[in-house]
Order: sequence, then C-alpha cells, then structure tokens
Amino acid sequence: MNDFSVKITARGRFYLLARKLVTLKKVDTYYRQITKLGTSVDYLGALLRHATTRVPYYKKMFDGTSNARLDQFPILNKQIIKGHFDALTVDDIEARAWFKNSSGGSTGQPQTFIQDKDFVTWSIATQTYYFRNFLGVEYAAVPKVVLWGSERDLFVQAKSIKAMLVNWLTQTYFFNSFKMTHEEMLLCVKTINKKRPVFIKAYASSVYELAKFIKENKLSVYSPQFVYSSAESMKPFMREVIEEVFACKVYDFYGSREAGAIAGECSRGSMHVFSFNSHVEIVGPQNNPVGVGEEGRILVTTLHNYAMPLIRYEIGDTAVLGGRCECGNELPVIKRITGRVTDHFLLKNGALIHGEYFTHLFYFRDWVKEFQVVQEELDKVQIFLVPTSTKKVPQEDVVEIEAKIRIVMGEDCRIEWKYVDAVPRTPQGKMLFTRSLVYGK
Ligand SMILES: [Zn+2]
Repeated sequence: MNDFSVKITARGRFYLLARKLVTLKKVDTYYRQITKLGTSVDYLGALLRHATTRVPYYKKMFDGTSNARLDQFPILNKQIIKGHFDALTVDDIEARAWFKNSSGGSTGQPQTFIQDKDFVTWSIATQTYYFRNFLGVEYAAVPKVVLWGSERDLFVQAKSIKAMLVNWLTQTYFFNSFKMTHEEMLLCVKTINKKRPVFIKAYASSVYELAKFIKENKLSVYSPQFVYSSAESMKPFMREVIEEVFACKVYDFYGSREAGAIAGECSRGSMHVFSFNSHVEIVGPQNNPVGVGEEGRILVTTLHNYAMPLIRYEIGDTAVLGGRCECGNELPVIKRITGRVTDHFLLKNGALIHGEYFTHLFYFRDWVKEFQVVQEELDKVQIFLVPTSTKKVPQEDVVEIEAKIRIVMGEDCRIEWKYVDAVPRTPQGKMLFTRSLVYGK
C-alpha cells in the first residue's frame, strides 16, 4: 500500500454523500464484502453451479450436474460466443436487469456480450478497492485529468448534462485522446498546471504522446501523485518517458469491457489479480497451468456476470505468472502482462515471434511519431508510419529495419511501408504497435 494520504475536497465529500444517498449503495455493500471477507467467499463455486444449472450451453454439457470443477469446463472464445450466443445466455434473462456491451478486440471485429447490473456494480466496487487500498485515493473525490478515447464513453461523458454534472462533481477534467492536436495538448498541460490533479488517468499511448510533447517543447508541468493507465498495454519505453516527465510512478490497471476489472499494479510493480471479481488462469500450449516465472495465455472467469457468465474466457493476452509480492497484499500476482496474443507473429514453420521484437526496431528513432507493424500474410508485413513533420526518414534506417524484419520473418518476406496521418485505432480507440492478421484471430 502507498502512503499517500486520502485527500477529499468539500466537493468530493458532497459527491460521496450524494452517491450514497442516491444510487450506488450497492457498491459500498460489495466494497465492505471485499475488505471484510477478501477471497474467502467461494464466488467461483457459486458461479459454476449457476452455469451448469441455468445456462443452456453448460447445462447440456454437464447434464445438469452441479458439481463440475473449473478445469472440466472448455475454453471459451469470441468465436464460440458468436456461435452459441443464446445458449450462453441465462435461461431467465427477462427477469434480470441486463444490457448489451461490446468489445472491439485487436482484429477490429466487435463482439457483443450480455452483462447484468451486478457485474457493473462489482466492477465499480473493485476499482474503488484498488484506488483506496493500492493508490490511497478516493477516486471520485479528488481532482483528476482524464485523457480517454472511447467514442461511446466520450459521447456520454461530453454530451449529456448529467455527465457534465458528474464531471463537475467528481472534478474530472476531460480530454479527448482521439484528437490530441498541438493545441489540445497545450490546453491539457495548462489544465494540469492550473488544476493540480491528484492523478492523470489515461490510455497508455495518449499520456505517452503528451509526455513526449512536454519533453520536446521543454514545457514545465505539475507533478501529480501518480499516472493511472488502462485499456492499452503500457510498454516499458513509454513508462520511462511518462515517469520522467511527470516525475511520478505509473500505475497500470488491467481490465476489459467483456471481463471488467481483472488486475492492478502495486507499488512494487506487480499486477495483483482481483480474485474476488475475476478468476485468472495462465495456461501453456496444452492448456496446462504454467509455473511461477513462466509465460502463458490468460483465461478469465468473470465471477459476477450471471446473465452471461464468461468461464475460462480466452481474452487474447499473454502474461507471466508471479509468486508472492513484497508489497504485503495477499491477492495473487501476475508478474507482468506481456502482450496480446495478436501481438505475436506466426512463422511458416509454426513458431511465434513476440511483437516486442518489432516494436524495438522503432525505438529511439526521432523520425517516428506513430507506427504499427502488421503481419498481413505469413510472408507479408505492412508498416504504418506517421513520421514527425520536421524529420526526414533516413534511408539507412529503413534498410536496417527491413533487414531485421527479414532475419525473423525470412528472406522472402515482403515489406510494405504506408505513410499515414494516423495509425488506425481499434473501434475503442486503442493504439496497437503490432498486429497479426494471421495468428490469434
Ligand atoms: Zn504487490
């Protein structure tokens, strides 16, 4: 736990009181449940019993028996959900408070999920837990600058009067990470200096862009207590620049629309799994659990979405399993999220190359503003490039990058450069550095 003191302003106190009185009483109930009982409640067992008795897909599979173990459940993915959407929905869905949500994914194919209110409430309670216990801050009650890019979230946040009121009450200063123009970034820096936020909440690439902008233009910027990043993977080179410019630590939060809050970074740099909200497995090639220090694919079981339980859902990310963490928090540890499965490129011989190999080729080159390396076919790679306006792309760098790509992809690999104004984002506005259209679709 950090030793930040929880600062609550008068406006924040008012908001918390209003929240308590009006809507989110349940969040507090779940929060108390988390802090009192921790992981001792068998949420997983209850969910599996629910699935085998009330969800047609699993009911049929287990013939209505209610004592199936997690490892007896098959792995779930987007294709299966698409093909068995109705069977994966609980049989009494009409009686529940449910809604549809969708997730873009790196291949840009949106997938719809059904979620219930309880799932959302648990997600909020989990985030509340993370902010209070890991960051020492009451999220809603302190000033914050937010750089967010989800079109839908943005629309809701920016347009409705209710959202504007909530932003005012929660002291949220909002910036659209979709259009971080020169002027917008200047305004953002001014706002940070004027409002002195306790933290900055942002997409990894947005706050990285902002940090680079501040550095390049030699601007001075107020140092918040921390930078909270989510929704994209925070690469080490990005973290380095952000922590240097804002003179504070980056805390990375791991979650997704379909699976909710999964894990959050502690002061020692480990990702702690919120095991009261999501059950996480990390598995190897034969779906066997990996050992501490080993890398594998992440399977998530959402513990509180009874409308459409995701059980052993292959979220598309890889991670290294961790041991005990020295920070003192007892929640299970992922040493680090190593990337999306689609970050990996597939070779003709079936081997996989980690996406980081390609991103490293673009580090420390001052002519690169944005880039994305895409494996189009087994032997075809496309490079989307946004060059910085002031620098010319040096031919020797191009030759070097192509040579290094061919070292791993093979001599006959075709490489195509595409100069663009902006690297294409996912439907949620996420920026990906590498993407394979061949592997992990
Ligand atoms: Zn820790």
